[in-house]
Amino acid sequence: MKARTRYAPSPTGPQHIGGLRTALYSWLLARQTGGQFLLRLEDTDRERYDAESERSIKNSLRWLGLDWDEGPEVGGPHAPYTQSERLPIYQEAAERLIAQGNAYRCYCTKQRLDEMRAAQQAAKLPTGYDRKCRNLTAEERAANEAAGLPSVVRFAMPADGSVTFTDAIRGDITFENGLLDDFVILKSDGYPTYQLAAPLDDVLMEITHIIRGEEWISSATKNILLTRALGHEPPIYAHLPLILGPDKKKLSKRNGDAAVKDYQDAGYLPEVLLNFIALLGWSEGTDQELYTREELISKFSLENVTNHPAVFDVVKLDWMNGLAIRAMSLSELAKRCVPYLQAAGLIPDPVPAEMLAYIESVIALEQERLHKLADAPEMTAFFFKHDLEWDDKALKKVQADGAKEILSAAADALEATADWSFESVESAVRGLIETRGVKPGEVIHPVRAAVTGRTVGPGLFETIHVLGKAETIRRLRNAS
Ligand code: GLU
Repeated sequence: MKARTRYAPSPTGPQHIGGLRTALYSWLLARQTGGQFLLRLEDTDRERYDAESERSIKNSLRWLGLDWDEGPEVGGPHAPYTQSERLPIYQEAAERLIAQGNAYRCYCTKQRLDEMRAAQQAAKLPTGYDRKCRNLTAEERAANEAAGLPSVVRFAMPADGSVTFTDAIRGDITFENGLLDDFVILKSDGYPTYQLAAPLDDVLMEITHIIRGEEWISSATKNILLTRALGHEPPIYAHLPLILGPDKKKLSKRNGDAAVKDYQDAGYLPEVLLNFIALLGWSEGTDQELYTREELISKFSLENVTNHPAVFDVVKLDWMNGLAIRAMSLSELAKRCVPYLQAAGLIPDPVPAEMLAYIESVIALEQERLHKLADAPEMTAFFFKHDLEWDDKALKKVQADGAKEILSAAADALEATADWSFESVESAVRGLIETRGVKPGEVIHPVRAAVTGRTVGPGLFETIHVLGKAETIRRLRNAS
């Protein structure tokens, strides 16, 4: 069966990890079955709407390669895909539901609803709309309309019975209709609520699978009743488990959840984040943890999504990112580091062609230690800066007794090398250690401090070799 799935975010804030997982699973199912993946913007809550959020959602999906077949910007047979541009469709459906007897206009004022609620609370009764307007006579309704009273449209809940549906992840779920309110489907300003717009669009856009977070389970009954009132059978629902932080509390800003953009800025590779997010709740039941995009497409299944919470483990994400960085070809890795080096002001934009080989040899020295691309500038800055900044420990090394003299001797020895091969560099420094009869550290430590400004880093000979003769000598003389 070709799945038509949708990611239907409300653009009210930056794209976070949880939503991205919903989008990913929906995308995987569509790609696996040769169906379509839709992006639909549920922007009918105009008070909470945020244009920046819309950009963040689209950018995050694009960054991860989750392309949508229908939706904003790409169009499609059911355009528009932005709900605020579809108001007449919802209004017409609301009218139809009223005409069928599945919905009714409610003229109750906010004041009346507040008083009703307060009275219910005082009497320790469940709160909810008392259905006053459901029972208005035709005359009363006509009088309210003639008086121009503002109204909302409410769904007329069946008084009894229940709704059972088979969730693709959780199995059968039943809700008693009697527990539900006559929920509002159209607001007085003519905007639909989520409870009308989403199920109606799911019908119109021929969605076959609704994949979303478990916080939406309680909406499923309303969605299903509304879908049936519209004359359709509901699609398949799959409610994804919660994502918890390492502290086993719901993932939130406080325990590590961040906007997808933050992961991008930190230098996680999109293919790694995709792999990592896929595993937040889904597993084939094997030990495999590293998946390519193609493997995920072929192996993903809703049946293998668990119904217990997934734990977001950033240590694992770092580990996966480091593995991917080490497995990458050097030229690819250097290319990916370039924007980070540019953002840190270490290299020009665009990169001069003759600089590329140098960048590659610098990155080659750090490939083993790099976990996130955004660490590259910090780790490699000394290769690019003309004016070196020495950290405190390095400063101590170059100011130690006898250091200046050693640095000057090292500069002489390196200056005398016939060529600047790695071997020549190594033998020049080792020669110096030998002729002076000192421990290697007595030369290596001050030299490292002088040319890199720090006391830790990649191998000294490799570093000097990459840095080049002129720059190495300049730095040694500078410090001596
Ligand atoms: N607009 C809803 C949200 O923000 C969509 C829920 C659903 O997928 O039905 O998540």
